[in-house]
Amino acid sequence: MAEQHAQLVVIGGGPGGYAAAFLAADLGMQVTLVEPEANPGGTCLYRGCIPSKALLHVARLINESREAAAWGVNFSPPSIDLDRLRSWKEQVVGQLTGGLGQLVKQRKVNHVRAKAAFKDGSTLVLTDADHTQHILRFEQAIVATGSRPVSVPGFETTGGHVWYSRQALDLSEGPRRLLVIGGGYIGLELGSVYAALGSEVTVAEMMPTLLPGVDRELVRFLSKQLDRGFKDIFLKTRASSPKVQKNGIKITFDHEAADSTTRLFDKVLVAVGRRPVSSGLGLENTSVKVDDHGFILTDDQQRTADERIFAIGDVAGEPMLAHKASYEARIAVEVIAGMNVRYEPAAIPAVVFTDPEIAWAGLSDAEAKSEGIPVQVTRFPWAASGRAAALGRSEGLTKLVIDPESERLLGVGLVGPGAGEMIAEAVVAIEMGANVTDLSLSIHPHPTLSETIKEAAEIFHGTATHIYRPKRKK
Ligand SMILES: Cc1cc2nc3c(=O)[nH]c(=O)nc-3n(C[C@H](O)[C@H](O)[C@H](O)COP(=O)(O)OP(=O)(O)OC[C@H]3O[C@@H](n4cnc5c(N)ncnc54)[C@H](O)[C@@H]3O)c2cc1C
Repeated sequence: MAEQHAQLVVIGGGPGGYAAAFLAADLGMQVTLVEPEANPGGTCLYRGCIPSKALLHVARLINESREAAAWGVNFSPPSIDLDRLRSWKEQVVGQLTGGLGQLVKQRKVNHVRAKAAFKDGSTLVLTDADHTQHILRFEQAIVATGSRPVSVPGFETTGGHVWYSRQALDLSEGPRRLLVIGGGYIGLELGSVYAALGSEVTVAEMMPTLLPGVDRELVRFLSKQLDRGFKDIFLKTRASSPKVQKNGIKITFDHEAADSTTRLFDKVLVAVGRRPVSSGLGLENTSVKVDDHGFILTDDQQRTADERIFAIGDVAGEPMLAHKASYEARIAVEVIAGMNVRYEPAAIPAVVFTDPEIAWAGLSDAEAKSEGIPVQVTRFPWAASGRAAALGRSEGLTKLVIDPESERLLGVGLVGPGAGEMIAEAVVAIEMGANVTDLSLSIHPHPTLSETIKEAAEIFHGTATHIYRPKRKK
């Protein structure tokens, strides 16, 4: 077996792995990136963040063309050319992953197209597509193998009727009746795409609300919108017993508060969560430890229990988000480079790219309550925003969670169009330790939705311009 050597090997070329490989090369390390795909990108670029956002952009365009009638502008109903839409989405993915491939070459990262498995704590076996194996000895390794979708028992053997996010993003067809199992962000984003393309979308979620774990006050706005765009949303409902028939796939719904029902669909999208890719990596041949969910355990420097091996991204724990993976990549590489850094973000933003978008960062009022942290919450409804009115989108909310003593901003929640872009201001403010006065004295451009953050800060002092909220007497 041929033998190679790497100062640093990065296993997996997603937003965790390629960010780590690039930074390490920039810092002068000799880097090998092991990733089976021709170019880096991982789940995020090939079958996650990027293709889903490209399709959501089109979905928004379709929906806006329908809404324009209210402003006196009439478009004909959209005619959808699925082949062209698919090739546009593939072009976006190809452009970005191809660009990453160029950066691999420019940085002289040694990209090996193979799957890696540990033989021991300093040796990997690399197996390429035609099963040829190589040995790679390394000084340090970063595991960034990401995650894969969780399946639902009973839904594995139903052939082409069952999709996971990857198949839904393939856009092979537009099913007339689509069932989405799981009301999390992936199910709702992809359900929104297919609803805009003309499918009748039904969502079944076991929990009592959509987006379990997200601030209810924000989710309410989205639920109202989805009630209009989706055929049905079944909460407290378990989908089971799939039966393939000539005319579709029959599903049984076990509702908590009603008798079971059955319905026929053309496709079922299973979107019930993701699990880390930590098995099959030979971790048992190292001292690396994994928890009960399969996440690799690390310290706050991304170091595993095996001192030469680091882990980042989805495989290293929640939240499973691309920007968290890239942030951890920086920590791991800087630690390897001898810098004294730690993973201690004050806020990790999260965005649900539905319409309206939901975005949050830092502490929520529900978390503050459950942890007994005293907070004051200010709310600025978008009904009072000039920009929201000009967009015809006055339904939205900006919420600030504030420490009443220091007046520091602890958390922000947003719902409305563009919330995903706006949340970045909140992250910077929380990281910089800004207080409400810093926010209210920072001039925000008019007319923008960002002004709702400034006005929500002014509410704290009872001085918001576009809404009357006198300061509460102590
Ligand atoms: C439909 C969908 C939409 C999403 N939307 C968003 C979003 O809008 N924003 C966001 O922040 N996140 C989003 N995510 C989540 C995001 O994709 C992940 O959090 C992110 O990709 C994690 O990055 P990673 O580097 O940890 O792993 P991944 O991107 O999963 O990359 C892991 C890589 O490791 C490789 N690999 C696996 N095993 C081996 C092995 N043994 N040897 C070599 N290579 C291996 C794989 O081929 C893969 O390329 C979305 C996910 C999905 C499915």
